[in-house]
Amino acid sequence: MLEKTRETTGFVPEEVILVKLGEIVLKGLNRNTFESVLLKNMRRRLAAVGNFDVKIAQSTVYVIPRDEQADLELAAERVQKIFGIVTFCRARVTEKSMERILPEACRYLEDTLRRCKTFKVEAKRSDKAFPLTSPEISREVGGALLEAFPHLTVNVHQPDLVVRVEIRDFGAYIHGEPLPGAGGIPVGTGGKAAVLISGGIDSPVAAWCMAKRGLELVPVHFASPPYTSERAEQKVKDLLKKVSEYAGRMFMFTVPFARVQEEILQNCPEEYFTILMRRFMMRVAERIARKEQCGALITGESLGQVASQTLQAIACTDAAAEMPVFRPLIGMDKSEIVKISREIDTFSISIQPFEDCCTVFTPKHPRTRPELSAVLEAESALDVEALVQECVENAVITRISPV
Ligand code: ATP
Ligand code: MG
Repeated sequence: MLEKTRETTGFVPEEVILVKLGEIVLKGLNRNTFESVLLKNMRRRLAAVGNFDVKIAQSTVYVIPRDEQADLELAAERVQKIFGIVTFCRARVTEKSMERILPEACRYLEDTLRRCKTFKVEAKRSDKAFPLTSPEISREVGGALLEAFPHLTVNVHQPDLVVRVEIRDFGAYIHGEPLPGAGGIPVGTGGKAAVLISGGIDSPVAAWCMAKRGLELVPVHFASPPYTSERAEQKVKDLLKKVSEYAGRMFMFTVPFARVQEEILQNCPEEYFTILMRRFMMRVAERIARKEQCGALITGESLGQVASQTLQAIACTDAAAEMPVFRPLIGMDKSEIVKISREIDTFSISIQPFEDCCTVFTPKHPRTRPELSAVLEAESALDVEALVQECVENAVITRISPV
């Protein structure tokens, strides 16, 4: 593979990224699909940071720079956010000879080794034509490191650093501790789902959770101009941009919702306002979802969090949709949701104070245990189909790409 890169570009890469695959290795059945989708996602994400070859061999993905400008540091940042990867590491690549491996091992990990007291070497020889066995390689590399860094000692049980040497088909690779990847399964392998996205803390986290399980996302956002501002909608786009660093590029549907809210306000009892509004959201999202070939809806609901998220309220909301509704946060505490939102860097955006369509009209005394029959009765005052259709027709599509 290195030979090929060299032949086509004349550039000899000294460092690459090695990626170990996740669950996909276990899924014998769909392994080929999983691998090809992962490679496609990786190529797309890496194209923006430079010229890389992305190839797979022996259950390892190689990310190989094709020229000087290809920035491996940036590439590693991107790789860290791609679902389907369990661990990855930057690795020094050399020719498969001990004369090259020994000095490179000393040089490549010098900074880390100076900060350590103990180490051990783990060698793996998948190219059985290499003359030394794995224990022999470990012993020789260990000896060279002890000589070059006299402050070090070997500790096989709890070393500060494990120096890894892999003799593979295409070269010898030297690296330290692999870093954890984003886990999950590659986005797109599980199909598509429409995610109801607000500017809050929860829905971006819900979107991220389901993208992690392989779903491609179609975000649907309900905006209520003139009651809500341009800035509130921008906030949602900013949130989705963060999510797209993991979930890949997506097309967001912004649905004008003020008309529906006004109709409910004028024609239905106030105590059912929220639940009726939520049923409209489900219907409109489902209609868009079908047009976009989605198989499910996703929301950020968490049981008992607010009046509209009681068991009875959720049952009434659910009854408005035929598709499965995924609620990945249903059993989580707010603190657990906040923790994820900090990790994926959406929290600071979510807490910006811009009004959401749900907060513009909030009933003083919402029904926390609505009966579906009473909800249907309240809803019968409205021309549901016409309102839904109007929403879908007036939805505006925006492309969201990762930075
Ligand atoms: P979030 O933090 O996601 O806003 P929340 O705790 O504020 O959630 P609600 O406002 O009751 O809860 O909304 C519950 C779910 O309904 C949200 O997680 C989201 O999936 C969906 N939702 C709420 N408002 C909107 C909106 N304006 N556009 C699209 N979906 C929405
Ligand atoms: Mg909200």
